[in-house]
Amino acid sequence: MWKKLGAIVIAVFAIPGTLVAQEVNVYSARHYDTDDTIYQKFTRATGIKVNLIEGNSDALLERLKREGKRSIADVFMTVDAGRLYQAEKLGLFQPTKSKILESRIPANLRHSKGLYFGLTKRARIILRSKDRVKAGEITSYEDLAKPKWKGKVLIRSSTNVYNQSLVGSIIAAHGKEQAAQWCKGVVANMARKPQGGDRDQIKAVAAGEGDIAVANSYYFARMLNGTDEEKAAAAKVEVVFPNQSGRGTHVNISGIGVIKTAPNRKNAIKLIEFLSSDEAQKVFASGNNEYPVVRGVELVPVLKKLGGFKEDVLNPAVFGSNNEKSIRMMDAAGWR
Ligand code: FE
Repeated sequence: MWKKLGAIVIAVFAIPGTLVAQEVNVYSARHYDTDDTIYQKFTRATGIKVNLIEGNSDALLERLKREGKRSIADVFMTVDAGRLYQAEKLGLFQPTKSKILESRIPANLRHSKGLYFGLTKRARIILRSKDRVKAGEITSYEDLAKPKWKGKVLIRSSTNVYNQSLVGSIIAAHGKEQAAQWCKGVVANMARKPQGGDRDQIKAVAAGEGDIAVANSYYFARMLNGTDEEKAAAAKVEVVFPNQSGRGTHVNISGIGVIKTAPNRKNAIKLIEFLSSDEAQKVFASGNNEYPVVRGVELVPVLKKLGGFKEDVLNPAVFGSNNEKSIRMMDAAGWR
């Protein structure tokens, strides 16, 4: 009798196990306040608590490596396919199958084996000086390497992953040999030794240091809505979406993948599915003036104003996986 009761007592105690708060641990290299709004909505909708561990991408990868199997990480989120590839190469991700994600996120914006999924898109655009470069004078990434632009091109360092990914896409489009030539051509055309971030390249065109800048779309969008100084600089340049008559403009992603050792795998997938909802996409993308990966989701006004463009549909996993090749190639070209 007591034994039976004992069993009942144990059974009763076993139930609260399922009542333990559900959670998901997010290692994120994205830090925009709007992201927090979305996590709160997710918790309200599902009862799953989001524990956010933020840091820069390299630091989080180091941490994941160090923690190994003991890591509490369920998902890793970062910007740029080059960085997602670094996580993939370390074997940190496990494949995810989800009908929702497969129907919501276009196939070219997720890893073919489900190792990671794009959440937002950013275009690597060209900004030309309104005064010194006429419309139609520069139309492609290939043009950046032409002798015509000697001393006119402003582009940041090769240590930056955005340029590594751009080179990765040039390798995919033209092969290694031509891509190496392209890097050399760009280096020969640089207006100055690479310095500063993407916005600094645009500001340098505005200041007359060169005529053409390369930057991610959200930086330009941010300047359009920025300080008076930034607005004034942005007013001196015009957006060129490169390669519109060919393969389209290079588009990169911010993305997320489920960690191999995720203690809360189901919750992790639920979170990623939630992030692909119209509501989450809108907020997530608008936080950094990015393009949603899900079709039909409304753009922020500043991006609407820039207008539509043809996107290169090359999967970021492809140019991301060219990362080491790109770095070596830029080094060899003297791209500092
Ligand atoms: Fe950035």
